[in-house]
Amino acid sequence: MGAAATHRSDPLDVPSDAVSRKLVRDPVCGMHIAEGLAIVEQSGREPVYFCSEECRNKFLGEPKKYAANA
Ligand SMILES: [Zn+2]
Repeated sequence: MGAAATHRSDPLDVPSDAVSRKLVRDPVCGMHIAEGLAIVEQSGREPVYFCSEECRNKFLGEPKKYAANA
């Protein structure tokens, strides 16, 4: 009679190690952020990462001040 409902187990919330866990550094405040969460700004040849728009704006206002470690 009652056919048991088969539970499909989609691996939707399997933590994927393929997702980038790389940490990048915000040159403005020095904070480390996961690359996937950071705001990326292309500065010259190098991408620069920020924790927030605020830091990005600071950097864009004075890029030379923060681009010291080339
Ligand atoms: Zn920041």
